[in-house]
Amino acid sequence: MSQKTKIPLLRPHLGESELQLVQDVFQQNWIAPVGEHIIRFEKSLEDYLGNQSKVTVVNSGTAALHLALILLGVEAGDEVLCQNLTFAASVNPILYQGATPVFIESEPDTWNICPNYLEMAIKDRIKKGKKPRALMVVNLYGMPYKYQEIKNVTESYGIPIVEDSAEALGSTYHDKPCGTLGDISVFSFNGNKIVTTSGGGAVITKSQKLKEKALYLATQAKEKTVYYEHKAIGYNYRLSNILAAIGVGQMEVLQDRVLAKRRLHEAYKEVFKSLPGFVLFSEYSDYIQSNFWLNCVQIHPENDTYNRNDIMNHFGASNIEVRPLWKPMHLQPIFKNYPYYGSGFSEALFENGFCLPSATNFTTVELSRILTLIESLT
Ligand SMILES: *Cc1c(COP(=O)(O)O)cnc(C)c1O
Repeated sequence: MSQKTKIPLLRPHLGESELQLVQDVFQQNWIAPVGEHIIRFEKSLEDYLGNQSKVTVVNSGTAALHLALILLGVEAGDEVLCQNLTFAASVNPILYQGATPVFIESEPDTWNICPNYLEMAIKDRIKKGKKPRALMVVNLYGMPYKYQEIKNVTESYGIPIVEDSAEALGSTYHDKPCGTLGDISVFSFNGNKIVTTSGGGAVITKSQKLKEKALYLATQAKEKTVYYEHKAIGYNYRLSNILAAIGVGQMEVLQDRVLAKRRLHEAYKEVFKSLPGFVLFSEYSDYIQSNFWLNCVQIHPENDTYNRNDIMNHFGASNIEVRPLWKPMHLQPIFKNYPYYGSGFSEALFENGFCLPSATNFTTVELSRILTLIESLT
């Protein structure tokens, strides 16, 4: 029987504390998108991030990315440089603003934006008549992007950075938390992320003034008059107090979740050691720490036994969920006509890569089913 139950890629991990907090909200009847838990959730994120971070919680990571672009002044007709290997939610808000995404290829160490392609693209866009308005860089699968190298490029051109840290709460770069690396940064608390409110997100800014602007835009851009006066386009993006209560409980266990994810990564590292036909995606240096939101594997180019489909079938037959990597943006039907700078690195990753189950609450039986199956690969 246990052989048959499905092992999912990820699984929300909530406890008694979250339930108690939600019960408190019911008792106080503070269900609306205002209330004490929203403030507490923001405070706990600010305490975790430090570095004078100011946090505004909203109802999705996508909404947070949209607000980040507005705060940086991205408008219709602008160009926004964007990581090519990511989830579509990094790109869509660029299009909500009527701006054009310009896709930049990733590099092998982090699978995030390649500084060389970035500089090449900036020079070419300027030559074609337009300096890009902003850069959207991602900490994909929890792996911190090459902060210093990227910053060296963007600073010399005066291009601000949106850090899509939706997958990387708990990761660090030289001990600086992901979520503080960009000019504006974003988290997601969607059900599959390391910490969840079932749905939610956060905008992280470096000034109280920008936080207030994010809050104003997220709550319909209402002026401080008693009657309803509006001078800007507003959005209904604020997080509800009930979901924020879950977030308060989840922040208490963030470090436990990071440790659990990193332990799982170590377990995978151990089994893949003796499988030369596969390469587990790991940290390239000890000054970065990934939260290993998802563990990813590349099938070695010289592995003639398996392709990605064989792997999917192999795990599928044991009812263990594995998935392909994110399909690169320049290959997406909806985005294929936008500029792309690269030579196919992410396409090759996509063809030969897959994600392993990476929940923080697998039972020992589930974990041993997964590891045994991997050991059976040759
Ligand atoms: C999940 C995710 C988002 C979007 O977050 P939502 O809360 O689902 O809107 C954005 N970017 C990346 C890279 C993500 O993984």
